[in-house]
Amino acid sequence: MAGSTERALGVPRVLEPTGVLPQAAQRLDASPEIGPDEVRIAVERLNLDAASFRQLSEAHHGDGAAVRAAVLEIVRTRGKMQNPVTGSGGMLIGTVDAVGPESPLGLRVGDRVATLVSLTLTPLSLSDGLARWDGRSEQVPAEGTAILFARSIAAVLPADLPDAVSLAVLDVCGAPAATARVVERAGARSVVVLGAAGKSGCLSLAAARAAGATELTGLVRDEAEAAALRATGLADRVVVADATDPLAVAAAVGTPADVTVVCVDVPGAEHGAILATADGGTVVFFSMATSFPAAALGAEGMAADVTMLVGNGYTPGHAALALGLYRSAPGVRALIEPRIHP
Ligand code: NAP
Repeated sequence: MAGSTERALGVPRVLEPTGVLPQAAQRLDASPEIGPDEVRIAVERLNLDAASFRQLSEAHHGDGAAVRAAVLEIVRTRGKMQNPVTGSGGMLIGTVDAVGPESPLGLRVGDRVATLVSLTLTPLSLSDGLARWDGRSEQVPAEGTAILFARSIAAVLPADLPDAVSLAVLDVCGAPAATARVVERAGARSVVVLGAAGKSGCLSLAAARAAGATELTGLVRDEAEAAALRATGLADRVVVADATDPLAVAAAVGTPADVTVVCVDVPGAEHGAILATADGGTVVFFSMATSFPAAALGAEGMAADVTMLVGNGYTPGHAALALGLYRSAPGVRALIEPRIHP
């Protein structure tokens, strides 16, 4: 019989290898029967994380049916949606349909919720073959069941926003929270965001401004994104460069910033981000496509005295902060809405 800490962390759901927590597991038990401190959710929609969806799309040359088959196979074999190449997942929304008597999450049957823990550790079983999904968007209409542990988090969906919006914003809500925290703690003035016209990017710009930063630079990949970002006024300066080309990033950014936030969904942005950051500054690697060796060894090789943070998807208050920015910043809405497929 598992101890309460083990149960709270979902350890009894780990099938292989034994001795790891669910996030590191190869395979989870996704059966719908719940333990006394678990919650079962009737799944309505998944949000695949951007790095994972891009990798799957590129690997299958944009063939939606093949992407759908790949996602089904991952969930079938792993009992969770964890892309084996990127290691990343996403999150989901659904309706609570069973609550164990010892669950501390405060959820009730019938609550419509977004899970704020990654799909990479959420036991998931799909029952509809993802028949309503064309494999061409990050948001996946789905039927099945998901399990939350005692030590999970979920947010009741706000009534004033469409589900697709809440899902997209909550998926990346760790980014603005991390940005705000770093800017506030460091008293940072200048901030560069790589991938600034994307979902986490524009939220991070808005969060940096609200936290007191006064020189905001948004780096985007092309003129179309630059025009869209300029129109929002979220950044004081918009520059165009390939985030995976370090010298191009350094040239475009110019004077390095106090804080750099990496919000692209492609690998290879580590060295540009380090070059964009002043000595004594901080890089927040929110992107799941970040390589720890590339960041650590790259900084060492450039003798760059920067603090590098892994973008923890959880910060207390992160969901409310991101939804608040979405509601209050028209520029954030203007950039996120076109990215959402209802
Ligand atoms: P998104 O909305 O797709 O935004 C990514 C942006 O980066 C897009 O504007 C994209 O441009 C741009 N971009 C891509 N390649 C680029 C390049 N070479 N140079 C410059 N810009 C480039 O993605 P998101 O949902 O904000 O997610 C961003 C990252 O956060 C992903 O890596 C995701 O995995 C990660 N994430 C992390 C957590 C966490 O807990 N740490 C949670 C969720 C997501 P195009 O649109 O033109 O391609």
